[in-house]
Amino acid sequence: MLVFGIESSCDETGLAFYDTERGLLAHALHSQIDMHRAYGGVVPELASRDHIRRILPLLQQILQQAAITPAQIDAIAFTQGPGLAGALLVGASVANGLGLAWDKPVLGIHHLEGHLLSPLLASTPPAFPFVALLVSGGHTQLMRVTDIGNYEMLGETLDDAAGEAFDKTAKLLGLDYPGGPAVSHLALSGTPGAVTLPRPMLHSKDLDFSFSGLKTAVLTHLKQSDQPLQEPAKADLAHGFVAAMVDVLTAKSIKAMKQTGLARLVVAGGVGANQQLRTALTAAAQQHAFEVYYPDLALCTDNGAMIALAGALRLQRWPEQARKQYAFTVRPRWDLAAI
Ligand code: ATP
Ligand code: MG
Ligand code: FE
Repeated sequence: MLVFGIESSCDETGLAFYDTERGLLAHALHSQIDMHRAYGGVVPELASRDHIRRILPLLQQILQQAAITPAQIDAIAFTQGPGLAGALLVGASVANGLGLAWDKPVLGIHHLEGHLLSPLLASTPPAFPFVALLVSGGHTQLMRVTDIGNYEMLGETLDDAAGEAFDKTAKLLGLDYPGGPAVSHLALSGTPGAVTLPRPMLHSKDLDFSFSGLKTAVLTHLKQSDQPLQEPAKADLAHGFVAAMVDVLTAKSIKAMKQTGLARLVVAGGVGANQQLRTALTAAAQQHAFEVYYPDLALCTDNGAMIALAGALRLQRWPEQARKQYAFTVRPRWDLAAI
């Protein structure tokens, strides 16, 4: 089954073809990061307009890349939510418009389901069941994934998401947007132990997280000096931040593995690209005898491949979810556990 996937929930226009027999046939991505950088964050109206500009040229690109014709496509999957309403509407209307024009069924996908199934696109995919650590710009959750569509929330952040904390810390440190990669890079040249920041909720009995205090600790540290921090001190602070974040994410992941008794941990979402986190989780996996799986680096952040994959797996399992109705809604707020 060949599924065309469209992602447009935020600031990335992602399109892909996934085939259940042959795997990922093509994918293309346009990131709007450069456009939003001047504003220090995503401007929703600009995001929607840019999706409109990019989406059809990207479709032409992947049709050529995969050398397929619309007639060969079995279904169209698009991100239905959560995300920015205007941005979601672009993907939804293109998906349904093409569905009507090409006479193909259309299926709305939950963006986070895409993220947490994305490690299945790797060369050695995990088998079900597994624990998923979803660490993205808007979410930080530990989930028990028993099967496609069977997701149980084990714990989540009570305030800021991990990626959000990275982005806010980057802003405080005067680094480029988006902050995750910039903070991680700067942290590499910091001295371990030079700055120690709190590890929020490290010893709480549950699997929840809280990161807004960590960001405040960075601010407090910056305020202690009356002059702007110079490079070595900034790198030490970045190191302290990343170390605290990685410690908490690793400790709670280990706790989730013990609590569920499962043998596989899957990491998904943009913060899953973080090298310090990958090193710590790989070491924890060895020590506690579980396996850990990551998506390819390029598929950690938003992309169309994960949406095409989620659509294909759903339609394989539940063919009746393929509908040719072409009336659509988007769901800017949508709880994954409720799907
Ligand atoms: P959501 O999926 O929750 O709606 P999102 O789609 O914005 O949010 P992703 O695209 O999965 O999130 O990830 C983006 C986030 O990942 C940003 O906050 C970014 O700073 C962070 N990020 C990306 N690369 C890294 C890295 N190497 N280290 C740490 N954080 C990173
Ligand atoms: Mg993004
Ligand atoms: Fe995302």
